Amino acid sequence: MTPKEIAELKASIEQRMADIESNIKSLEETSKPVEPDRAIGRLTRMDAIQIQQMQEANLATARSNILKLQEGLRKIDEGTFGQCQYCKGMIGFERLKALPESNMCINCAEKYGG
Ligand SMILES: [Zn+2]
Repeated sequence: MTPKEIAELKASIEQRMADIESNIKSLEETSKPVEPDRAIGRLTRMDAIQIQQMQEANLATARSNILKLQEGLRKIDEGTFGQCQYCKGMIGFERLKALPESNMCINCAEKYGG
């Protein structure tokens, strides 16, 4: 990767982390436990609990993506960023830019899912 590409990737990772962090804040707001006797409009309590569980899952994904992105920044500094964890080949630059938390190349993503 050229220094220009590395700078682009860092900027894209930092942008993505900022997006995810604001997403986490709003998820935390809405994923608070459902109070038993709270009136939730047309939603039943079961619906509210289902939505809450979905948001908790999204929250967990968002948090793990933040960790992957932090790891990505570290690897950029180390010079080992962009290596596929399965085949050890280089992940394409465009893919890294679009999906910097990805740790597998497009071929392995198709093969193993992800
Ligand atoms: Zn691969």
